[in-house]
Amino acid sequence: MQFAQDGYKVSGINISELKAHFGTPLYVYDGEKIIEQLKKLQTAFAGCDVKVKFAAKALTNISILKLLKKNGSGVDVVSINEARLALKAGFEANEIMFTSNCIDLEEVSEGVSLGLNINLDNLSILEHFGKKYGNSYPCCLRLNPSILAGGNYKISTGHKLSKFGIPIEQLDQINALIDRYYIKVNGLHIHTGSEISDTEVFLKMASILFEWAKDFSNVKFLDFGGGFKVAYKAGDKETNVDEIGTHLEKLFEQFESATGRKLQMWIEPGKFLVSDAGYLLTKVNTVKRNPTVTFVGVNTGLNHLIRPMMYDAYHEIENVTNLTGVQETYTVVGNICETDTLGSDRKLNEVREGDILAIKNAGAYGYSMASNYNSRFRPAEVLIYKGKAQLIRERDTFEDILRGQVEAEF
Ligand code: PLP
Repeated sequence: MQFAQDGYKVSGINISELKAHFGTPLYVYDGEKIIEQLKKLQTAFAGCDVKVKFAAKALTNISILKLLKKNGSGVDVVSINEARLALKAGFEANEIMFTSNCIDLEEVSEGVSLGLNINLDNLSILEHFGKKYGNSYPCCLRLNPSILAGGNYKISTGHKLSKFGIPIEQLDQINALIDRYYIKVNGLHIHTGSEISDTEVFLKMASILFEWAKDFSNVKFLDFGGGFKVAYKAGDKETNVDEIGTHLEKLFEQFESATGRKLQMWIEPGKFLVSDAGYLLTKVNTVKRNPTVTFVGVNTGLNHLIRPMMYDAYHEIENVTNLTGVQETYTVVGNICETDTLGSDRKLNEVREGDILAIKNAGAYGYSMASNYNSRFRPAEVLIYKGKAQLIRERDTFEDILRGQVEAEF
C-alpha cells in the first residue's frame, strides 16, 4: 500500500474508489505482490530444482490459484475439495500435492483416482493404503521430526505432542509396512509449522530428510513444507530464504554425488506468498469512549479474520481515510457478539465514525477461515492486477445464509 497525495492506494487503486465500487468489509489482494513473493522463492531455491506448491488453504480463491498457476507454481491441498478447486483452476493432477491428515481411505482413494501426489501422515492410513494399492501407486510420507519450531506453540506442527506426521521414532514400523505391502515411497515430507524464521530449523529438517532418503531408494523429492515467515510489524524477523537456499543447494549436490540420485526440492508456502498482499478494509461503525479504553467498533470481526483471536496474531491497522489526524490510542474491536479484539492499544490517526481502517497482512488465513457466525455475510474479495481491480468473490447475500437449511414441519 502506498501513501499518495490523494489518499492511500493499494497497487495503484485509491481506497475510496475500492470502497465506492465494492463496499466494505472487503478483502483486497495485490496480485503483483503475490507474484513478487513467488519469484523470490523461485530465485532463492533455483539451485535446488525447486517446485513451489502454494498451500491453497491460505487463500483458496480460484482466481488467486489461477494467478499462481500462470506464474509457475504448483499447489498443496489438504482436502479433496481443495484438490477439485485446484483442478478447476487449471493445475495438472501431478502438480498437486494432497497432504492429508486424519482422513479416511475413501478420501485418499479419491485423490488417487484424480492422479494426485499423495502424502500420508499416520501408520494406520499407510497400512490401509498399502493393502489397497501395494506398489501400484506411490505415496509420500509426512514425518514428525520432534522439532519445536517458531515462537507460537499453536502454529507449531513438528513437535512431539503435535498430531501431525509419523514420528521419526516409528521408522521400524514404517519399514515393516513397506516390506509387507511393497509400498513405493516417492517422497519425504516435513512441515514444522508456520512463521519459522530460524535457518537452523530448515537445516535440521534437511539432515533428517537426506538421511532417510538414502535408504528410501524410490524417493524422488524432499518436501520442506511451508512456514516461511514474513514481517507482520516493523522490526519483525523474516525467514532468510536466500541463506536457506544456499545451504540446501550444497546439501542436494552432496546427496547427488554420494548416491548418484538427483532429488527435487518441494516447498509449500502459504503466508510467504499471500499474507502481505492482502488487506481487510473495514468501516468504523462506532467510536466508544469509555472511561478507561476508547474502542473503535468496525463492521468486521472474528467472523472474517480469526487469527488475532485464534493465534494471538498481530495485524497492523491503519486509518486510511484520515491521513493528517492527531494520533490517539484505540482498541479496535469487531461487531461480533464475542470478545473479538482485532488490535489493542493501537496508535491510530484520529478515528471518526465512517473512517476506513486497513487491517494488513490479511491475505493468508483471512477469508479462507471466514464464517457466517452471527449470521453475518462473508465479505467480497477483490484482486488488483495490472492496474485493474476485479471482483473475485461476491459478498454473501441472505440466500447464502439460508442455503442448505431445511425447515422442519411441526
Ligand atoms: N504445508 C502444510 C502441510 C501446512 O499445514 C501448512 C500450514 O498450515 C503450510 C504448508 C503452509 O504454511 P505457511 O502458511 O506458514 O507457509
